[in-house]
Amino acid sequence: MSAAPGQSRSLHDLSFTEMVELLHQGGLNPIHARALWRSLHGHADLLEKMPATFLGPLQRWLEKNFYADGAGFFVDAPETVTETRSSDGMTRKFLLRLRDGKTIETVLMGYDGRFTACVSTQVGCAMGCVFCATGQMGFTRHLRPGEIIAQVLHVQRILRRDHGTHLRNLVLMGMGEPLHNYDAVMKALATIADVRGPSLSKHRITISTVGLVPAIRRMADEGCPYNLALSLHGADDAQRQALIPVGKKWHMAELIEACRHYDHTIGKRIFIEWTLIAGANDTPEIAHQLAELLQGINVHINLIPLNPTAGFAGNASAHKAGIAFQRILRHAGYPVTFRQRRGIDVAAGCGQLKADRAS
Ligand code: SAH
Ligand code: SF4
Repeated sequence: MSAAPGQSRSLHDLSFTEMVELLHQGGLNPIHARALWRSLHGHADLLEKMPATFLGPLQRWLEKNFYADGAGFFVDAPETVTETRSSDGMTRKFLLRLRDGKTIETVLMGYDGRFTACVSTQVGCAMGCVFCATGQMGFTRHLRPGEIIAQVLHVQRILRRDHGTHLRNLVLMGMGEPLHNYDAVMKALATIADVRGPSLSKHRITISTVGLVPAIRRMADEGCPYNLALSLHGADDAQRQALIPVGKKWHMAELIEACRHYDHTIGKRIFIEWTLIAGANDTPEIAHQLAELLQGINVHINLIPLNPTAGFAGNASAHKAGIAFQRILRHAGYPVTFRQRRGIDVAAGCGQLKADRAS
């Protein structure tokens, strides 16, 4: 696993086992792997100046493999290009520059002293949902595990510094479709939830997907411990396909079947995300249709008023229409809540992320 010349690798991309193995190849025992791992996932910035606590063999390994010119390994520490705060100060959006100059957005939201981070999993997105700014920008590339982890480490540092606290919830609802980048996402989350690392509770991590059927089935079959949110937005194929091109690839029947499979296998409540768009998916008929569609599946429905994006002419539903929609679903027995609108004034709301200052 040593990095070949000219092919440097991120230390943040490595699982703990891979790190033990890497250092073992250099003749070091696991105690050094633990020390390095702790630095990487706690205070990676410490690595910039060799921590005095590193023992001699690890110091020598780092001098050769990390600090030296042309060394094989680097750490993921994206630079903050801009930080924008919402007018209430509770939502902060970071535009972060990756090593290749591409930029992504990470959002930190605070509520009642509890903090949630919303991280990106890709630069852009290939799914092309018409109402989403990320979809409108198209797909550039997947993020590596280290680039996903680095966003969490970034907000952890901010929280320690500014609030003396830590992150409570993580949602993969930033730029990109997490299940299109399945392996990198799962590897990153394993590190993020690792008790020797950032140690976030698996129950407080939510993967949001536009509905990649084989990947939802894979999550179920692998006993995935994280929460699943499904962006549904339509109650039949025609409604869904008008908003979500990928709805043409996997039809509603298959998608609902995959949700039932997930429900039976994992037994955890699925969050259904429903962006309310005036005239498109907010009528009482559609609410009844949705209630029928989800029958027998353990779900919680989240209604999200449409946030404006430059490339979509649709409007958010009127408040009255949203309330009526919610009431019908509640009568049908579903828990239904409105997603709090956060950070809209700084374009940090759902679907508004597009890194438009990208260089
Ligand atoms: N690709 C994943 C996760 C990122 S999008 C997914 O689609 O689920 C996160 C959420 O924002 C999704 O539920 C998506 O449907 C929603 N969203 C996208 N654009 C939006 C907009 N303009 N207004 C409100 N919600 C939007
Ligand atoms: Fe991609 Fe999600 Fe936006 Fe659709 S809503 S384009 S899947 S980021």
